[in-house]
Amino acid sequence: MDDGTAGSGSPTLERWLTGPRFAALPTRNAAQQPPLLSFEFFPPKTEALEQQLWTCIRRLEPLGPRFVSVTYGAGGTTRQRTHATVARIVQETALIPAAHLTCVGATCTEVDEVARQYWDAGVRHIVALRGDPPPGEIYCAHPEGYAYAADLVAGLKRVAPFEISVAAYPELHPQAQSRMADLDNLKRKLDAGANRAITNFFFDGSVFLRFLDLCLAAGITAPVVPGIMPVTNLAGLRRMSALSGASIPEWLAHMFEGLDDDPDTRRMVAAVVAAEQVRLLQANGIDEFHFYTLNRPELTYAISHILGVRSRLA
Ligand SMILES: Cc1cc2nc3c(=O)[nH]c(=O)nc-3n(C[C@H](O)[C@H](O)[C@H](O)COP(=O)(O)OP(=O)(O)OC[C@H]3O[C@@H](n4cnc5c(N)ncnc54)[C@H](O)[C@@H]3O)c2cc1C
Repeated sequence: MDDGTAGSGSPTLERWLTGPRFAALPTRNAAQQPPLLSFEFFPPKTEALEQQLWTCIRRLEPLGPRFVSVTYGAGGTTRQRTHATVARIVQETALIPAAHLTCVGATCTEVDEVARQYWDAGVRHIVALRGDPPPGEIYCAHPEGYAYAADLVAGLKRVAPFEISVAAYPELHPQAQSRMADLDNLKRKLDAGANRAITNFFFDGSVFLRFLDLCLAAGITAPVVPGIMPVTNLAGLRRMSALSGASIPEWLAHMFEGLDDDPDTRRMVAAVVAAEQVRLLQANGIDEFHFYTLNRPELTYAISHILGVRSRLA
């Protein structure tokens, strides 16, 4: 039997002697502080999706996230649904909600009014975004509206002392004039009163860690929280990536190759991919994570568990 160590011609021995060696990622134990988490949901369109969302919220609630956020549809199309979902979270759960709010297609007065309604309903945290226009259209600021997210942050601070999160792009926003212009924009948003940045999703940890270096060099000291997207559907991911400027590495496409009709294996592969990603970030000192749950709890729950977070019901 050839056990791979037999002679100098063994490819295994050759690889061991000459190739790079990888140490294991550090293991964690119960004595270490678990990271801070936040979870993102989208407002449901149908009764069935509403039930799916609430199953997801109830499953993730015992993990004690710092906040949960609810998105605002492209072009402001989900205004009522976002509001209804956030209001139900306030009324029926112990979770702290954050409402996404965008500048698109509304005057400053209208946006301020929505913000005021949130404040009156007990919502203290807004994720302030420029937003995207409806599919196929080019962004054009409303003549009487907030043009960019930095303007919206300043406007929200005039309405009430909200906690505010803003968006950041480790791989550059698709419409940014340059890397420096995009970093200046992020700094403007934070200087206008935002408390933290949450990043667009990405898959290579080094992309995020390099971005942190650039933020620090640009004088950004507020928390920059990595946005983690547990992926099970590559086709859906490709559509989102095209819009948001996040790249899909070749290795990721390779991971899902041949699994189009095999959802069970896809889910297991997805768990491994996301677990590796967050463990690498954790090993590099990252202790806050924002999960794009897509209203499905399983992967987010499993990955949070791997990161050291435990149910408060246990
Ligand atoms: C965590 C997160 C959550 C999101 N949630 C939603 C959501 O709920 N609903 C939704 O519709 N979209 C959402 N998005 C997507 C986001 O709305 C889009 O990416 C949008 O295109 C940019 O929004 P922003 O807030 O980053 O814009 P901004 O920060 O305003 O930047 C937009 C672009 O304009 C440039 N820019 C900024 N200021 C100026 C200026 N003065 N002159 C010239 N250029 C300028 C920036 O460099 C950037 O390229 C989310 C994104 C993230 C990362």
